[in-house]
Amino acid sequence: MVRVILLGAPGAGKGTQANAIEDKYGYKQISTGDLIRTEVSAKTEIGLKVKAIMEKGELVSNDIVIELLKNRLKQDDIVGGYIMDGFPRNRHQAEELSRMEADHEVVIYLEVNEDVVIQRLLSRLTCSVCGTIFNLLSDTPKQAGKCDECGGALIQRADDNEETIRNRIRVYKEQTQPVIDYYLEKGHEGSFHQIDASKSVDEIFVQIEGVLC
Ligand code: AMP
Repeated sequence: MVRVILLGAPGAGKGTQANAIEDKYGYKQISTGDLIRTEVSAKTEIGLKVKAIMEKGELVSNDIVIELLKNRLKQDDIVGGYIMDGFPRNRHQAEELSRMEADHEVVIYLEVNEDVVIQRLLSRLTCSVCGTIFNLLSDTPKQAGKCDECGGALIQRADDNEETIRNRIRVYKEQTQPVIDYYLEKGHEGSFHQIDASKSVDEIFVQIEGVLC
C-alpha cells in the first residue's frame, strides 16, 4: 500500500494534483475537506457541529477528522494506495497518520507564495457534484457555470472568500507548516520532495511524475 501525502497551503493545488495522480496511478484521493463537507451537506450530527468552524477557516477537532479518515480508509476501494489531500494539518495528525500502516510513503510539499494562493482561491470554482476544480483565470470550464466532467453546477466554496482565506493562511502558517519539519525530523529526506507549485497545473504534475515514477 502506497501513501502519498500532499502538503501545502490552501490553494497550493493539492486537490487538483491529487485528482491527476488518481487518474494516472490509480491511488485514491482522500480529501478530509471533502469528507467534512459531505457531513455538512448531509446535516449529520458531526456536520452541524463543524459547519461554523469550517466556514471561519479554523481547523475541525483532531478527534472528528481522524475518525472520518479512519472510516474512509476501511472502505475497500483503496487497494494499491491513497493520496492524502488536506491531512495532516498539525503535528498530532501527522503522528497519528504515521501509526496507520503503509508500505511506502512519499511526502510531496507544494511550495507557493501567499499572493498566488489568494488569487487562485478567489477565482476557484468547484463542481457541486463531482468536486472537479476549475479556475476562472487559468482553467476555465468549457461552458460557464457547468462542470466539463459531469455537467454539474459550479459553485464557489463558502470558505473561498477573502476574509476566510486570510484566516486559513494564518492557521496554515501556525499549525500546518510545522508538519513539514515533522517529516524532515522523522528522517523522511529520501521521500520528502519540495516542488515549485507556483507553476501551471501541467508543469506541477510533470514534477510530481518525476517523484512518483
Ligand atoms: P480543504 O478542503 O482541505 O481546504 O479543507 C477545508 C476546511 O475543512 C478547512 O479549512 C478545515 O476547516 C477543515 N479541514 C479539512 N481537513 C482538515 C484536517 N485535516 N484537520 C482539521 N480540519 C480540516
